[in-house]
Amino acid sequence: MSDTNSGWGRFFASLETRLVGALCLIAVLGVVLQVVTQREAFGLREQSNALIRTSAIAENADQFAEAVGKLRMATNRGLVASNRTSTSDELTDAAIAIDEKLGKLRGSGVALYDLPERANPFADLDRHVTAILDVQAGGVAGKALVERIEKRNAKMAAFAEEIVARARADREAEQKRLIASIARWQMLVFVTGAVTILVVLLVLFDILRNILPAIRRMHGHLQGLAEGDLDLEIGTFRLKELKALSGPLETFRRNAKAVKNLAFSDAATGLPNRRAFQEDVPRLLASRLGTSFVFMLIDIDRFKHVNDDYGHAAGDELVRLIGERMRSMLGPDGIIARVGGDEFALCMPVSADGEGSELASRLVDTVRAPFSLGEYAVAVTVSLGFAETLGTEDLEFDDTLRNADMALYASKKGGRNCATAFAASMAEERAVDRALEKDLETAFEKQQLRMVYQPIHAVRDDTREVEALVRWKHPELGEVPPSTFIPAAERSGLMVRLGEWIIQRALRDFAMWPDLHMSINLSPLQLQHDGFSAFLLDCCKRHDIAPSRLFLEVTESLSIERNTRALLTLNLLRHMGFRIALDDFGTGYSSLSMVKSFKFDRMKLDRSLVMDLGQDPASVAVLEAAVTMARHVGAEVVAEGISDAHLIGATKSAGCTHLQGYYYSRPIEADDVPGYFESAGQKAVEVA
Ligand code: C2E
Ligand code: MG
Ligand code: MG
Repeated sequence: MSDTNSGWGRFFASLETRLVGALCLIAVLGVVLQVVTQREAFGLREQSNALIRTSAIAENADQFAEAVGKLRMATNRGLVASNRTSTSDELTDAAIAIDEKLGKLRGSGVALYDLPERANPFADLDRHVTAILDVQAGGVAGKALVERIEKRNAKMAAFAEEIVARARADREAEQKRLIASIARWQMLVFVTGAVTILVVLLVLFDILRNILPAIRRMHGHLQGLAEGDLDLEIGTFRLKELKALSGPLETFRRNAKAVKNLAFSDAATGLPNRRAFQEDVPRLLASRLGTSFVFMLIDIDRFKHVNDDYGHAAGDELVRLIGERMRSMLGPDGIIARVGGDEFALCMPVSADGEGSELASRLVDTVRAPFSLGEYAVAVTVSLGFAETLGTEDLEFDDTLRNADMALYASKKGGRNCATAFAASMAEERAVDRALEKDLETAFEKQQLRMVYQPIHAVRDDTREVEALVRWKHPELGEVPPSTFIPAAERSGLMVRLGEWIIQRALRDFAMWPDLHMSINLSPLQLQHDGFSAFLLDCCKRHDIAPSRLFLEVTESLSIERNTRALLTLNLLRHMGFRIALDDFGTGYSSLSMVKSFKFDRMKLDRSLVMDLGQDPASVAVLEAAVTMARHVGAEVVAEGISDAHLIGATKSAGCTHLQGYYYSRPIEADDVPGYFESAGQKAVEVA
């Protein structure tokens, strides 16, 4: 079993058991110290009492021996001197003292004699004194008595000496015991104290060496995580509590990192998202100071159609494939991110002059090749804007991105499917556009908008018709052409509102011209707006206008064949009785396929197909082909842009059914419409 799995291993692995164990040990040692001290103190008190007692006995014994000595000396003196009285007193005092001390010794519990009572030299001391006095008095003096007295005195002295020796020995023994006890007590106190101090030191050492650094390390991890450092490595901890914390912490770190990755990457493409781009670019710039960088914004053209036609899953897949294709074109240094539904941002260090522009063109080209979306092959294009800048320490790359955005805007405005480099003038143009968009918002209330009508003449009969065209008289800019403000309205989200205004105003005028037909231009955005057909029908009903009197003109820019929703609306409108015209036919590359996807009632040939007639034989051929095709699908054909009489013959002979242009009339005010048709006899004749 490993160390950590053993009992001790587990004990030491836990901060709690370690600290509690150490505290318990200290407490136990404290108790032991207390018990030992108490016990020893008690013993010491006993022993000092014993010492006091033996000392008193020894003192008594000394005094006793001294009294015996005095008796002996007084005896000896009395035997040689004649001063009997003093000797008698001395003898008596000594005898009393001996008796008293003996009594005390006996009272102290000293075992005095092992002798039988008759051998006791201290029995009948008074008779002994009397015998001595008798001898001194010279009464029955005899040698034998003197000898007996001296023998008894010697016996007493010997006895006293023995008592003294014993009492002293006892006292010494007690002294020694006391000293030994004190030494032992000292030793015990020293040992328990030393062990306690050792344990405290060990605990301190453990706290300083192991516990605190581990806690500090954990604190560092927590702080790191709190500060968002999700790459830190959470090491291993031996302490159970920290170990228990490090597991969830590591899980938290991993989850937070996953969340961060999610928050910083685009789920559909796996590319970095806008936030990641904002964070990664400064790092890239800082790593290549002094290098030139190109910033690009890339927008998928008409991405909405892909979503509408193939569904959002296919749309997501297409974005992924486009991102992947562009990514594969960049070196390892380039950053490409998906920053919007159909928008990518790119930052790339570039060295040679023109490298950025070359990369931009290559990117636009590379996207043009069709993408395979399961059973479909979808071809899309992108618009790209780019701006170059020098990587400096204090570069605010947002400005460069804004420039790239302006260039992108120019690309879109310039027909999409191209790359445009930023130019300083763009900022001004964009500002003008923005101002225009803003002014357009209030143009309705300020009554700056009005409708004008351009007549359309039928070749075969005298059907009278006008095309409704909107006009905006800007207070400072004067007449703003619709080719400028219609796209502005589409960009700024105003188109639906503007479209509704146009329909209401045009139909109000139209209601006053019961024997006319009218064409109204529709923006693709109107067709995609919910409830448009109901709105139109409602307006017609309100003005009592039969839908069959109205032509709805849609342009090729709609790419109807790819816009299911618009196609459905157009079909619905046609079923309601409105007639549908394809405007500006001949200007876009999808014209032919559009004719295939929807049965138009009318084609309006763009001015560009008409204006060169008479100068360029090829234009006649193109015009004739277009007319033939239109007639084949049963549609009327309107030739736009008849600005001169010489264009009439060619268009008529090519088979156009209607003519429209400045030659007949420029767009005219509503009030002039009835008058125009009254006096249009001459031109009508020319048409016929
Ligand atoms: P469009 O629908 O093709 O309209 C014909 C445009 O050609 C009109 O320009 C008209 O004035 C112009 N035109 C007509 N005959 C001649 C000619 O002989 N020579 C020349 N050079 N031009 C001629 P306008 O009114 O400036 O409109 C431009 C475009 O703006 C329109 O092209 C149409 O696409 C759009 N538009 C105009 N009014 C509206 C509107 O009310 N709603 C919508 N959605 N678009 C509109
Ligand atoms: Mg038109
Ligand atoms: Mg047109």
